[in-house]
Amino acid sequence: MKILVINAGSSSLKYQLFDMEKGEVMSKGGCERIGAGGSITHKVPGQENYSMDVDLPTHDEALQLVFSLLTDKVHGVISGIDEISAVGHRVAHGGEKYTKSSRVDKELIDYLETIVPINPLHGPPAILGMRACLRLLPNVPQVAVFDTSFYSEIEDYRYIYALPYEYYTEDKIRRYGFHGTSHRYVSQKTAEVLGKDIKDLKMITCHLGNGSSITAVDGGKAIDTSMGFTPQEGIAMGTRSGSIDPTIIPYIMKKRNISPDEMSDVLNKKSGLLGITGLSNDFRNCLAAAQSGNKRAELALKILANGIKKHIGAYAAEMNGLDVLVFTAGIGENQSEIRRMTCENMEWLGIEIDNDKNDNFTRGVPFDITKEGSKVKVMIVPTDEEYMIALDTQSLVK
Ligand code: AMP
Repeated sequence: MKILVINAGSSSLKYQLFDMEKGEVMSKGGCERIGAGGSITHKVPGQENYSMDVDLPTHDEALQLVFSLLTDKVHGVISGIDEISAVGHRVAHGGEKYTKSSRVDKELIDYLETIVPINPLHGPPAILGMRACLRLLPNVPQVAVFDTSFYSEIEDYRYIYALPYEYYTEDKIRRYGFHGTSHRYVSQKTAEVLGKDIKDLKMITCHLGNGSSITAVDGGKAIDTSMGFTPQEGIAMGTRSGSIDPTIIPYIMKKRNISPDEMSDVLNKKSGLLGITGLSNDFRNCLAAAQSGNKRAELALKILANGIKKHIGAYAAEMNGLDVLVFTAGIGENQSEIRRMTCENMEWLGIEIDNDKNDNFTRGVPFDITKEGSKVKVMIVPTDEEYMIALDTQSLVK
């Protein structure tokens, strides 16, 4: 079975074609600048990458180009588009209704339209991608996999904010949680690698990338997570502030005479590592600056590590224990320094890492960095959201 996974952004469209029998990626790539010029990069394992600039007015043209490259005599990997058995779509937000991966139909798209006000950035492009696929592949089953659905079983006292209750009932203000597909994948993969039944494990999964979130996974179910109504809540990120005292917002808006949109821009795009250092949102640059003595960069790393540590402590308390701590995504998988800083002085909780293993880890595979005798296992587990989407798609269309 061949499954195409689509991740549509407002001006981009990423894709991966999986051969599910082999569990392999046959091809992947992405279109950029849709609606404002256009380009595509198409990759096939073992071949040179193929890139070109091409006019892509809408997501329809982008998808058509993807299909023609996938079936191209030189760059293609399948003989015809009818070899694609199903399409899986990455969808950030399923609202309160879509608590599981689901077949894409009119009812699903209509519902997603109704929640665009609470998902204004990611909702419209995901809908565009699904509509384009339905138009171009009308006979191929399509599945939507939601980042929020992993959190659908969180208890109400963990998802309701202490605000007037009607903000929840009327305005849908609640914790939804994001990055769920990644947390779900790495928690399942970790249990598999450890040879344990996930039902017996209390885990904390740290997805640390440009966007970062931490999830408590008890017996395979997410019971709490750091991201909230939007992906803004939680720990400091590349450009997002994470949680702050909410009163700072009206105070700064009045003092600096800035609008809600401008404030939102500051919180989303000008804060986090970038805001603190004034240098970069990229962890690598911040680390290099800190190592050459930049005090604000040092401070940014400490703020990030301390935020992760606080969530680990809180989630261990919520779960009444901890068996495995998992690091994933760009920073979590690649940056030994943040893992070291986070796990420092956590012996009381049973967390001890082997510094040598942490520094000399193997990239791209699950890797155990636990110190001998540590009560809690500490693992680096590469995430693979696209494969998780493909697996869900496969099980729904089978
Ligand atoms: P992500 O959003 O998961 O792509 O992660 C982006 C962050 O991960 C950036 O802050 C990068 O500094 C960091 N990162 C990604 N890849 C690497 C790598 N190979 N080595 C070190 N840091 C990396």
